Amino acid sequence: MKPAPFAYAKPRSLDEAIALLGTRSEPRLLAGGQSLLATLNMRLSAPRTLIDINGIAGLDRIARNGGTIEIGALMRHVQAERSAEIAQFAPLIARAIPHIAHPAIRNRGTIGGSIAFADPAAELPACLLALGGEVEIAGPSGKRSVKADDYFKGLYETALGPQDILTSIRIPAVTAQSRVGFAEFAMRRGDYAMVGLTATARADGKALTDVRLVYFGVGQTPIRAKKAEAALVRSDLDGAVAALATDLDPPDDIQATGKVKKYLAGVLLRRVARQLMEQPA
Ligand code: FAD
Repeated sequence: MKPAPFAYAKPRSLDEAIALLGTRSEPRLLAGGQSLLATLNMRLSAPRTLIDINGIAGLDRIARNGGTIEIGALMRHVQAERSAEIAQFAPLIARAIPHIAHPAIRNRGTIGGSIAFADPAAELPACLLALGGEVEIAGPSGKRSVKADDYFKGLYETALGPQDILTSIRIPAVTAQSRVGFAEFAMRRGDYAMVGLTATARADGKALTDVRLVYFGVGQTPIRAKKAEAALVRSDLDGAVAALATDLDPPDDIQATGKVKKYLAGVLLRRVARQLMEQPA
């Protein structure tokens, strides 16, 4: 199928892009196009104007400021995958990216596009939430930061407004005490996850503190398993797995029933807990 007709604009600055979002009819931002073009081609969406942000300089950089690392929205998945800085300071992102689709898609898809699209089965939105990161947004009233905890609102729904552009994400750089974990079940390598789990914690002797367990593929947004987090802090792994019965309520979908997903969530928790406990930062 071919997309419905659309106009195309390629702004050279954020201000120009924001102005276009306010003046063009039914606009939609185009970043890597790896999610958007599929929905256009299947006529699941039909924006009247595509605003291609790939001509805006400076949105594909990595910057380190003190204890945080900032990743520009237009950084391609492949650039992040190959970045020595991300491997060193944001190892959870480095570990998650090879699970995103296939190399051809990672060559074009962007970090910002993934966080803006907010697919509930996607890896990076869950990582952002597990890391307690922030999203940087530019809009008609200027720039603002939104904490990941407040960013994901519902199915494909985020704190981004109709004239907003996600410019970067900010996450805490790892320290010697940081622990991260990642695992997912997918039907085939590169498919969206049937169920996935991404986690962060701080090592405190043999115990873990500040545990954040974020599941993806089990609801409308990435979901924190807060009772399981508390049980892991008490070093009660069986209790953490049992707590998933109330932390998660995955609906059936085309990949698996909710019951199967819940079972798999427990299997993933045992794997990820082992990573958190054993892994040096
Ligand atoms: P686009 O497709 O350009 O845009 C997606 C949406 O986000 C659009 O609505 C667009 O307007 C909006 N948007 C984009 N950038 C911004 C911005 N900076 N500010 C505000 N809004 C913005 N993803 C996974 O996470 N895991 C997978 O396993 C996976 N498998 C895939 C398999 C296939 C076959 C395909 C085609 C895609 C898959 N993807 C997967 C999606 C892929 O990672 C996309 O690249 C990503 O979701 C969107 O990034 P993009 O840059 O391509 O965004």
